[in-house]
Amino acid sequence: METLEFQSEARQLLQLMIHSVYSNKDTFLRELVSNASDALDKLRLEAFRDKDLDADTADPRITIEVDRAERTLTVRDNGIGMTRDDVVALIGTIAKSGTAEFLRALKERDGSSSDELIGQFGIGFYSTFMVADRVTLVTKHPRSAEGVRWESDGGGTYTIEPVADAQQGTAVTLRLKPADDDDHLPDYTDPARLRQIVKRYADFITWPITLAGEDGAEPEVVNSRKALWARPQSEVTEEEYAEFYRHVSHDWNKPLETISLKAEGTFEYQALLFIPSQAPLDLFMRERKRGVQLYVKRVFIMDDCEELMPEYLRFVKGVVDAQDLSLNVSREILQQDRQIQLMRRRLVKKVLATFKTMMSDRPENYAVLWREFGAVLKEGLLSDPDNRDAILAVCSFASTRDAEATTTLADYVERMRDGQEEIYYMTGDSRAAVENSPHLEALLAKGYEVLILTDPVDEMWVGAVPEFQGKRFQSVAKGEVDLGSDEDRSQAEQDFADLTSWLTETLSEQVKEVRLSSRLTTSPACVVGDSHDLTPTLEKMYRAMGQ
Ligand code: ADP
Ligand code: MG
Repeated sequence: METLEFQSEARQLLQLMIHSVYSNKDTFLRELVSNASDALDKLRLEAFRDKDLDADTADPRITIEVDRAERTLTVRDNGIGMTRDDVVALIGTIAKSGTAEFLRALKERDGSSSDELIGQFGIGFYSTFMVADRVTLVTKHPRSAEGVRWESDGGGTYTIEPVADAQQGTAVTLRLKPADDDDHLPDYTDPARLRQIVKRYADFITWPITLAGEDGAEPEVVNSRKALWARPQSEVTEEEYAEFYRHVSHDWNKPLETISLKAEGTFEYQALLFIPSQAPLDLFMRERKRGVQLYVKRVFIMDDCEELMPEYLRFVKGVVDAQDLSLNVSREILQQDRQIQLMRRRLVKKVLATFKTMMSDRPENYAVLWREFGAVLKEGLLSDPDNRDAILAVCSFASTRDAEATTTLADYVERMRDGQEEIYYMTGDSRAAVENSPHLEALLAKGYEVLILTDPVDEMWVGAVPEFQGKRFQSVAKGEVDLGSDEDRSQAEQDFADLTSWLTETLSEQVKEVRLSSRLTTSPACVVGDSHDLTPTLEKMYRAMGQ
């Protein structure tokens, strides 16, 4: 047996792990299972490349065993294993370039918890020392004549020795720290707890993960292995999608729409997204989570990955599985990562394109989408200027043309009358309130169509979005809506000059100006706002906020 020293950086990292304040200690199992899964992938690849490799590939699997009396937990795989040199190079050293920076950042940290810092760097195998006071690894590579046993208590050294009867692959055995010490360690010998952790982090790993039952109980495969996003859409049944949707959304309705996307090339990822058929009750709550989960190579990383979906698409559910991210990727890193930004851009475009297809090919589905989520989607007109045109293209609005049916902007523009330059709209609390407004009269009498906007968000975006297909949005309650001819108008202005100036003076406390209008037919007068004034609804909103 040989005793070797850890490389100095590895030593410091081990100390950190031993005294870890890392709140989510469960991740050690995620790291071990993901290493085992990688090892099985590598074996498959290697056996394919080298037909003479003397390896057993018949029954690839990952096994988790516990011994409650000894307080040990073993994660075993029959994958590629490691040679002695591999073990020294890979386990005794930290090859990750980020480690030195990590330790520097750790020394210089002021206030920020080591939790956040740990999360930013790959720590993989060493995370076992969060929960174990001794770790033993036995491994055998198909090309090595004998196996290797590596052992360490996380101090400065480790031992390494040959083993004659090792099986192909790797077994990592943790001697768990006492459950009742200061760390408040969960009981990792409890099979129910282990099952729960595997379900959470490794449910979609390709290889079967078996939890060996104690007391002679039957071993059971814990993970469902159904990574539907990795299978071609044509091979997955609607029922399978619906079941998966229930799993990720906890919604028992069927999804309205299923979107699958596969990106190949330098940055590979797959996405499986769903549009629900019903808005959840908390859709407009501030703290509402977004519905997309992030996976890295089928290993669960996080829920509600807001870096992947903008807020106005917060109703979209599903998973995104990236090939080349670190398992320990943190939210902070995600926010800065350029590839994540590219991914998000592509996902948003795909979702908006799907809405467009629904509009033309599945109008009943589009109608449900718009009814349930239209008000949320319109938030994007303000927050996502890059996709404004794509969002406008899938918007629908109530209009004076029909009491029931909505219209798209493209259809509205198509119906615009000769000489009409602008898209007329009126905002208000309800359709009835808008219809009773005197502002509409003249326009309706002359046969113009007016969009009726009654969502609170409408007040915001109509002010911010300049135009659609070159046509400006014009509120019929603001400024001049010019419907008469110019000569008529100046003649009338002269005729009524005395009356309007008398009214302006008499009502000077109440109004800025009294002028003739061509917009009324049966009502004698109405109050309008200045072009730059707030609309009545916005005024009410601001007043309610105490401004
Ligand atoms: P990472 O997985 O990010 O490379 P880890 O600390 O988890 O970092 O593992 C370090 C290396 O040790 C892995 O890249 C792999 O080469 C090797 N290794 C770890 N576990 C296994 C295993 N079960 N089988 C084969 N090799 C392994
Ligand atoms: Mg790893």
